[in-house]
Amino acid sequence: MSQHMNLLLPSFETDKEEYDERKTTDHGGIGGSVWRFKGNKAAKEAASVSMKGTLARLFDCCSKDVKKTILPLGHGDPSVYPCFQTSVDAEEAVVESLRSGAANSYAPGVGILPARRAVANYLNRDLPHKIHSDDIFMTVGCCQGIETMIHALAGPKANILLPTLIYPLYNSHAIHSLVEIRKYNLLPDLDWEIDLQGVEAMADENTIAVVIMNPHNPCGNVYTYEHLKKVAEVARKLGIMVISDEVYNQTIYGENKFVPMGIFSSITPVVTLGSISKGWLVPGWRIGWIAMNDPKNVFKTTRVVESIKEHLDISPDPSTILQFALPNILEKTKKEFFEKNNSILSQNVDFAFDALKDIPCLTCPKKPESCTYLVTKLDLSLLEDITNDFDFCMKLAQEENLVFLPGNQYETPFQVSNIYKYKN
Ligand SMILES: *Cc1c(COP(=O)(O)O)cnc(C)c1O
Repeated sequence: MSQHMNLLLPSFETDKEEYDERKTTDHGGIGGSVWRFKGNKAAKEAASVSMKGTLARLFDCCSKDVKKTILPLGHGDPSVYPCFQTSVDAEEAVVESLRSGAANSYAPGVGILPARRAVANYLNRDLPHKIHSDDIFMTVGCCQGIETMIHALAGPKANILLPTLIYPLYNSHAIHSLVEIRKYNLLPDLDWEIDLQGVEAMADENTIAVVIMNPHNPCGNVYTYEHLKKVAEVARKLGIMVISDEVYNQTIYGENKFVPMGIFSSITPVVTLGSISKGWLVPGWRIGWIAMNDPKNVFKTTRVVESIKEHLDISPDPSTILQFALPNILEKTKKEFFEKNNSILSQNVDFAFDALKDIPCLTCPKKPESCTYLVTKLDLSLLEDITNDFDFCMKLAQEENLVFLPGNQYETPFQVSNIYKYKN
């Protein structure tokens, strides 16, 4: 199990025994009275739908008694496998940054200028409306980008449009910020396109944004130019922004070419979220960005930019060492590095997709062409004693020590597994 060392591990493989020795015997405080403090429950519900929360619950179901090796197919971290190591150029960039002595100080809340400029250059390769360093905010991975955007837009009665299958942190932060979640459908038979009629029908004057994932994690599709243009037009009609999560823009191995949502920013303002976590196989490095694609300055006049800055001023920054290394990471990594990773994923997808054809109750609506997950639809009518996708995943963990993620938690039952390792 040593290769999974940094993963969230099932309780029987942690240092739990040591903790158990610490018995909780003293229920009283000073002079026998009760303690005056206790942890609040503000994040309880938000955490329960998070990926870390769900994985922890599933790992808790695994057990030694099953006598089967744990197969962790739920997590989204390829770096635990030897075939998925980051590029030497990226490592060199960090070493150089560390040794330079120039990156030991605090950074401004919005990030250091060389990093912001490097991200703008990186994104501008594909954008007609050029963005500037001022349009970029550095974040602690894409996760902080998600948190910051939802915090910056939250308000009384606010609602946000999220896809039914999504990176769960969006749900968590919406719940935590008391923003109502309205879930729009993805259409599995139409390459997982967004049900735009549904989007239009569910928006109202309190809708703050429509969030899209492109490439889509976990569905593994890449949206076409035409579809994204329609998304922009619907958003424009509704008077809302598009938040486009493009964290997987380097992880594409199918036919559809990646089109950044920022291309349509003259139709409606677009916030792009990104990071190096997935493309460079370094989710532990914790650096990402928020990019404002906004040629008409809507985000300035609506105070969105100010709100983002205020939130970043009171949050921890990504390490200055990584910020300082970022220009070299983005500029010097060769395209062969991405090609090699994508070719491994593509082979794994072929293997899994074919193998699934022999399992009647699981169908994969569309072979993934991006990202590192594979979504299957569960046919509950073919399964005995399974009530929904969460139940399915819990029982697989209990009986087989096999950990998948429930895709949708209860509605249309989907099941999600990563595609890092199928053979050897
Ligand atoms: C992994 C992931 C994130 C979080 O990215 P970090 O850079 O690790 O914080 C955000 N969105 C999606 C779709 C992801 O898959």
